Amino acid sequence: MRLTVLGSGAACPAAGQNSSGYLVETGPDNNGHRLLLDCGHGIASALLSERPAADIDDIWVTHMHADHFIDLLALRFRITRDMAGLPEPERRISLHLPPGGMTRLAAILEAVTFPLDFCASTFRVSEYAPDEDSECDGVGVRVSPGTHYIPSFALRVEADGAALAYSGDTAPSAAVTDLARDVDLFICEAALDQPETGHMPGHCTPEQAAEMARAAGAKRLLLSHFWYGTDTERFGQRARAAGPTPVDIAHDGYRRTI
Ligand SMILES: [Zn+2]
Ligand SMILES: [Zn+2]
Repeated sequence: MRLTVLGSGAACPAAGQNSSGYLVETGPDNNGHRLLLDCGHGIASALLSERPAADIDDIWVTHMHADHFIDLLALRFRITRDMAGLPEPERRISLHLPPGGMTRLAAILEAVTFPLDFCASTFRVSEYAPDEDSECDGVGVRVSPGTHYIPSFALRVEADGAALAYSGDTAPSAAVTDLARDVDLFICEAALDQPETGHMPGHCTPEQAAEMARAAGAKRLLLSHFWYGTDTERFGQRARAAGPTPVDIAHDGYRRTI
């Protein structure tokens, strides 16, 4: 199983940095089942730099903040173009939205004056359950809720005898920690420089990400989802000082085979 970070940024763009998107390729020569985890701004273009968009089998969206899904519209244009002429059964890309995501997506489509079936005409669109546990082509995906300003869900992917977990957007969360139990790689957001106070928390500092990784028994932590202007090397140092888990720092184009 190979991970490629397509976007390591958060909602505020920085030069050369996309928002959230992770390509997971499984199977022999990483050419079996392929998943895209989140599709924020910049991800459609980044994906096309890696492989044809129509190669993707499953798209999972952690939550309906724009930096995690808004490039679905651009991606849909390209996939539809690339699949033109193929018979209906070939249109096999499944779009897994969080609970309530279909209503949100419909509202976005209406706002931008796109037809309401814009996505459904290309993707098989569904909403996953908050505790979804599914399997397709030997790839298991489990879902667990995180702690965020809106409902957001962490994902665990198991394939080829390996496991990774992706936090989505979350404050420190026992449920996300449980989902990441003993994974080979835990992609955890670290959007904050300092812990949140005074309102409902929704993000992690590097220290909080390191503590979740330690508690989960993750073999490696990949810090990601950095706010514009973050000193990511310093974030890595802070996470390494806060816990025993080896730490990598995500950047657009980061790759790791697990
Ligand atoms: Zn985000
Ligand atoms: Zn968010």
